[in-house]
Order: sequence, then structure tokens, then C-alpha cells
Amino acid sequence: MLVSQLIAKKRDGQTLSEAEINYLVSGYTKGEIPDYQFSAFLMAAYLRGLDGKETFYLTKAMLNSGKIVDLSIIYSPKIDKHSTGGVGDKVSLILAPLVAACGVTVPMVSGRGLGHTGGTLDKLESIPGFRTDLSIEEFKSNLEQIGLCLIGQTEEIAPADKKIYALRDVTGTVEFIPFITASILSKKLAEGGDGIVFDVKVGQGAFMKTLSQARALARSLISIGTKFKKKMTAILTDMSEPLGQTVGNSLEVVEAIEALKGNWQPDLKKVTYFLGAEMLILAGKCKSYPQAYQLLNKANQDGTALDKFQQMLKRQGGETGIIDDYSKLPQAKVQYQVQSARRGYLKEIQTEQIGWLAIEIGAGRKSKEDQIDPAAGFVIRKKIGERVQKGEVLAEIHCQYLKLAEKIGEQLKKCFVVSQSRSQRPKKILRRLTSHSESAVRPEMLPG
Ligand code: URA
Repeated sequence: MLVSQLIAKKRDGQTLSEAEINYLVSGYTKGEIPDYQFSAFLMAAYLRGLDGKETFYLTKAMLNSGKIVDLSIIYSPKIDKHSTGGVGDKVSLILAPLVAACGVTVPMVSGRGLGHTGGTLDKLESIPGFRTDLSIEEFKSNLEQIGLCLIGQTEEIAPADKKIYALRDVTGTVEFIPFITASILSKKLAEGGDGIVFDVKVGQGAFMKTLSQARALARSLISIGTKFKKKMTAILTDMSEPLGQTVGNSLEVVEAIEALKGNWQPDLKKVTYFLGAEMLILAGKCKSYPQAYQLLNKANQDGTALDKFQQMLKRQGGETGIIDDYSKLPQAKVQYQVQSARRGYLKEIQTEQIGWLAIEIGAGRKSKEDQIDPAAGFVIRKKIGERVQKGEVLAEIHCQYLKLAEKIGEQLKKCFVVSQSRSQRPKKILRRLTSHSESAVRPEMLPG
């Protein structure tokens, strides 16, 4: 097979066979196909589309690029969750120890920042010493001993996704349902768990801007995922504003630890608890939402979830002292306040742009080789629907240079749209999909 012919075939809108997709994925993963050819394939597929069968073949090829972890030695239920990507989305850092503290094993293979969104691995690696590149044996042993482990794709687990993800990030080929489906499922299916809860983000700061796009992504994840015989639920959650209060790696670690200590931003708690309840229900640990919230509350309030987080730090080489002393995390030299030029109500936050500005100050990568500044980020002081006074602080910038903060400050201010008319707080949990149903989320299903 000739790579250039396969690229041309897709460019001309034809369908690729399983053997052709395998050839492309395995060639690129082994380094036999160069970045420039694989980039051309990615763009051709992005523009021409991939059908359900091609998406399934792509997922399978990416999954089979590495090993599938055998977790049959672990008897407790093994459930993970995965977000499709957002701004300020630190849920995994809190949810994994919280759900593990409730007796469910959480094997979690996560990603790095992608496009304007942040990545769990980058957040974890802002913790001095923390290792995300564990071997399969270490991954299994941590799961057996403490019930959770958060790692990235390695040469052993979904190596194709590791390479393709980094290339998509810098070639404008991120926001495409078949690629997102294959990327997420290839690493999640490799973990060897029993089921997955997907957090499909929708809104200005997500890859899926509308409810109908998010639904299509959720359906794609579930329909391809169930072909691999796993239990799957997808929740559509709001990403019209950053989640919680912080955007940027070490800042988000601090917010996550605060949540584990019981000090939550309300929107972060709602999303984390709802996803946690879904994991406990999928695991068969609980039959109802109230029962799940009771378990989650107990683990949060009696310190067992924080203790799980500490055990994870210990086992993965992270500095445990950060839990009581945040100054042990990377610190920015400059903290700069962005103030509102007018009074009114916060009507809109241009969340995608906030994600791009976070990359500008070093919190993410502009090219594959870029080093992240783990301390860089924003603290968001106002959320949609809140009253704003002229001169009030909208956000703080944490970065290394004053000049950079001043430049980004001007742009960040424009991301906060203040109007004279009142606006509603956005609903956070929008819809719930399973392999056989879709429903609205009723108030009695939500945490109190
Ligand atoms: N998360 C992933 O792991 N992959 C994507 O493509 C998007 C979000």
C-alpha cells in the first residue's frame, strides 16, 4: 500500500477499509510514516468524514497499537470516567480518589492538553516528582493496593493515541467526532475496566459547541464503545464557563485538593458528584442517586477521599507535602488583576478564548515540543449571572512576566461580557444517555 494513495483516497471522499486504516495507524505509530503524511491524512479525514465502520476500525487499530491491561485479578468493580475536554476541568483529580474511597477501583488513562482545553496529565505533572509514565505492572499493582491510578498513554498503552493526539493538537484536527471517539476509547478500553462514564462537555468552551453536536459525540462514544462489550453512560455537562475557579495546572491542583478537603466551588461539586454517582451506579455499588450522594459525602467529609489522593501521590512519586503546603507547588512570579470596565451582570464568558489565552501565558503547548509553565493560569472571580461592579476583579493572571500579564490582561477582560440585563446561571448537568435511552436530568437526580 502507498500512503500517498490512501491520503488521496480519503481526500476524494472514498471509504477506507480496515486493512488500510490499520496500515496508516501502525505505520505512523512505528515511525514509518512521517508527521507530514499523517497530518495530510488527518486533514483529509477531517474534511471528508469517517463513517461508523471507519471510526470503529480506527478505534480498534489505535487500541491494538498497545496492550490491553488484564485486571481480572481485581474483584471489585472497575469504573473510569473520561471528559471530552474543557477549560478548568479538574474533575478527574477529585473524582478518582473520591470514588476509589467508596470501594470502586478507578483505572484511569488520561490525556494532555488538547487544542484550547487542559489535560489531566499536565495538571498531575505540575506536582513535583509525580510520574504518569508507569509500566503496566506498576499500574496494576497500584490498582490492587490502593484502588486508583492515573497514568498517560505509554509505549505499552495506546501508543497510537499518544502520537496522534499530539499531532492533532497542532494541525487543526481536534474537533472531529470520529477522532475524539477513537482517541478516548482506544486509551479507555486499554485500561481493562468494566465500564466508563463519559463527561461530554457542551458549550462555548467545549469542542462540541451545541447540544446536538454533543449528543452526536455521546452517541458515537456509546455506540462504538458497546461494540467492545463495556458498560457505558454519557452525561452532557455545561462548558459555557470555566469549571470551578481556576484554569492552569498547579492552580487546578490546589482547587482539587481544596475540594477533597470539603471546600468546593458549587459548579465543580455538582458536576463531580453527579459523575461520581453515575460511576457508583454503573459499578453496582448504589441503586439510587441519593444513596450514591450519601457515600460520596461520607468519603469527602471523613477524609478518606483526601487520604486516597495522598496514597496516590506516594505511589506515583509525587510530593505529598503539597497537601498541607501549597507553596511546594510551582509558583508564578507575577499575579495580575483584571478589572471590569463597567457595572452590570456577567452575561457570557468566552471560554474557548480563555483556554487559548492560558496557552499564551504558558499553561499549554503551541507546538508538540513546547514545555509547559506549570504555575501559569487564571483564577476566575466572576461567573455567569453574577453582579459585577465597575473596577471589580473579574480574574487574576498568574504568569512569569509582568509585560505578558499586561498584554494578556487586555484580551482576558474582553472575554467577560457584562450587560445591563440580568442573566441566569447556566444549568450544569444537561442530559443523560445510555446505550438504550436518552433523558433530561431531573432536579431530584442532582446532588443537594
Ligand atoms: N479527550 C481525548 O482523550 N481525546 C480527544 O480527542 C478529546 C478529548
